[in-house]
Amino acid sequence: MAAQIVKEWSGINSFAPATQTKLLELLGKLKQENVNTLTILVMGKGGVGKSSTVNSIVGERVVTISPFQSEGLRPVMISRSRAGFTLNIIDTPGLIEGGYINDIALNNIKSFLLNKIIDVLLYVDRLDAYRVDNLDKEVVSAIANSFGKRIWNRALVVLTHAQLSPPDGLPYDEFFSKRSEALLKVVRSGAGLKKHDVQGSSIPVVLVENSGRCNKNESDEKVLPNGIAWISYLVEKITVVALNGSKSIFVDTKLIEGPNPNERGKAFIPLILLIQFFFAIKPIERAIRTDIARESRPAWEMRDASLASRKF
Ligand code: GDP
Ligand code: MG
Repeated sequence: MAAQIVKEWSGINSFAPATQTKLLELLGKLKQENVNTLTILVMGKGGVGKSSTVNSIVGERVVTISPFQSEGLRPVMISRSRAGFTLNIIDTPGLIEGGYINDIALNNIKSFLLNKIIDVLLYVDRLDAYRVDNLDKEVVSAIANSFGKRIWNRALVVLTHAQLSPPDGLPYDEFFSKRSEALLKVVRSGAGLKKHDVQGSSIPVVLVENSGRCNKNESDEKVLPNGIAWISYLVEKITVVALNGSKSIFVDTKLIEGPNPNERGKAFIPLILLIQFFFAIKPIERAIRTDIARESRPAWEMRDASLASRKF
């Protein structure tokens, strides 16, 4: 097969010089740890800013964004390479349509990802949403059921529209932490993460402002109301997740066509029942039968039995 030529990641040059330096430093760190390729999967509901975030990270308008229309139903992978490092980023269609999980979109995503490795999941939602509901939980469950709940060990929650004034005079950081906590709670319950699921309690939440009107600091970097230069901060957190020691997700046929990966143990239930039948129930039945046979019978029972069998 001909080697695929990956385009140069020239979008980095569109960032402020301070951001560029930080990004190249981070790529260097990844390469030092023998991570020469990162594949980032971007998922979430429709209209939350997934495609805009992909464009922001790549530094180019590589995927279409749309305020109203529902997106196409197919995922798109953008690949860029820089200084011997390759970034693959996969933009996906929204997972919710008309109040339900969009199964066509989900199946398209699964088959698109077949035989690919997912290093990092960006789960995108908006910062300026004040409620979490059952749909959020369903999206999280759908992701966990499709790729295994382990994928949440490789995940970051990304909150877009981060340049806002919180309602009711709440301080920005307090609003951010309340929104993050509410979403993380849904992620933990939707994905069925328990306390012992190591990263379960520590999925990083990162803020993003994709708008061209994002404020800038004196070094010309795009900053949030809390002063954080968010592009390099996001890439830094991606690096932390990529190097957190948990395994990347390899999407094989077993994972996407087999039973729900989180319930795979349940496939053994019939086998366990069979073993119980032959090794526990059967011997007990046999023991009971032997006991009955050994039991000495009273005289009247013998007499009744012989009367009953007599032919008249
Ligand atoms: P997707 O459906 O999740 O891919 O969302 P899009 O990236 O297409 O964005 C939907 C709309 O939200 C578009 O009009 C974007 O311009 C807008 N948008 C996305 N991210 C942000 C953000 O961080 N801030 C603001 N102000 N608008 C955003
Ligand atoms: Mg989109």
